[in-house]
Amino acid sequence: MSARRAEPYRIKMVEPIAVTTREYRRQAIREAGYNTFLLRSKDVYIDLLTDSGTSAMSDNQWAGMMLGDEAYAGSRNFFALEQAVQDIYGYPYVVPTHQGRGAEHLISQILIRPGDYIPGNMYFTTTRAHQERAGGTFVDVVIPEAHDPANPHPFKGNVDLAKLQELIDRVGPERIPYLSLAVTVNMAGGQPVSLENMRATYELCKRYGIRVICDATRCAENAYFIKEREPGQAGRSCREILKEMMSYTDGCTMSGKKDALVNIGGFLATREFEVYQKATQLVVLFEGMPSYGGLAGRDMEAMARGIYEMVDDEYLSWRILQVRYLGEQLLQAGVPIVQPVGGHAVFLDARAFLPHVEQATYPAQALAAALYLDSGVRGMERGNVSAGRKPDGSEYFPRLEMVRLTIPRRVYTDRHMDVVADSVISLYRRREEIQGLRMTYEPPTLRFFTARFEPLGGMLSQA
Ligand SMILES: *Cc1c(COP(=O)(O)O)cnc(C)c1O
Repeated sequence: MSARRAEPYRIKMVEPIAVTTREYRRQAIREAGYNTFLLRSKDVYIDLLTDSGTSAMSDNQWAGMMLGDEAYAGSRNFFALEQAVQDIYGYPYVVPTHQGRGAEHLISQILIRPGDYIPGNMYFTTTRAHQERAGGTFVDVVIPEAHDPANPHPFKGNVDLAKLQELIDRVGPERIPYLSLAVTVNMAGGQPVSLENMRATYELCKRYGIRVICDATRCAENAYFIKEREPGQAGRSCREILKEMMSYTDGCTMSGKKDALVNIGGFLATREFEVYQKATQLVVLFEGMPSYGGLAGRDMEAMARGIYEMVDDEYLSWRILQVRYLGEQLLQAGVPIVQPVGGHAVFLDARAFLPHVEQATYPAQALAAALYLDSGVRGMERGNVSAGRKPDGSEYFPRLEMVRLTIPRRVYTDRHMDVVADSVISLYRRREEIQGLRMTYEPPTLRFFTARFEPLGGMLSQA
């Protein structure tokens, strides 16, 4: 057997992608205001904007799509989904939603009262926004290592139990309806939580009657890291590990668009009948009947099948190692990236990559634009532009100024990763040719989606 590995699938259908010239891309990125969010997908060669809803479904999932039972109530696909969640996660009660944020909306409205505190292992944009909308205040209780891009801690997503205890002592357990536990932690770079930390967090919460609600968006990828890194776990299957992980939680919200390998869908699951009952009342108002939650029957079937596929050890190992394969090529060439490489993306450290570019001129935005110009690869800025402005109008200048290269599941081959690596490395060698940007249009909220820029010089401005 060869020591090299290859994709554990073969290709049955192909989707052509655009191979463009540098001149074409120069025009396209100029028209997009040097913001990769404003590029048209048809002009992108390798699209690493996000891993959300961009997975390739299997033949088995597509076959399931043909078995869509589009009944208004009691669709057989709902029962298939319920069965999958019971088998793989172990929760008895399931309410489908159109995607993850639909489930976040329901759980926040059901459990949070104004003035409550919701500790979490780092915030996520939609999760925190729903907690705040329900009158809660998010409190970060992730270990400090998570905020340091170079720290090699194997479980950078872990909860800092001392910080959690301190919050409980300060505000009282009755003001904390639940702890929000993300596995893996997206904003820290796809970093996992250990089984031991999940168990200890659950025990601490139970002592005070506080629930643990899991953001299970990338739970299968987290299970793989536990198998790989946690003492005593190597002999177990990811499926077994995931079931144990979820046993240390009281419920979860899930975006099917990530680990569950579908293009749309999500769900809320819980062990508590009362929470389930309230969710079935609310879901009717915001998503649809509790047996479809805003999804077509065929979408529920695809997600049910994706849930079984996502815990396959061969698939998961290939998935995580593909992301790492890209990361390691960059590391060998000296390119500064977040370490260890996480589950779904490689993050370029734009401040270290472009030390000559002031953070006020958006180094990560400029680097993302330069990468598109160089090779048609689309990444995403996660830095000063994404952070927005403080209430007093000044910019945050966050410590992490990054370009995220997010790998869709089962979509690209390792050869695509080679092309991405070559382009990033060649830019790194010519990094002094990349200059910053000036913002020419700034929307008042979530500015990263639609802001426009112009180059202050360097390779982006050459005619
Ligand atoms: C994507 C995501 C969500 C929200 O899910 P959607 O399906 O996009 O609504 C919640 N939490 C995390 C960590 C995510 O990555």
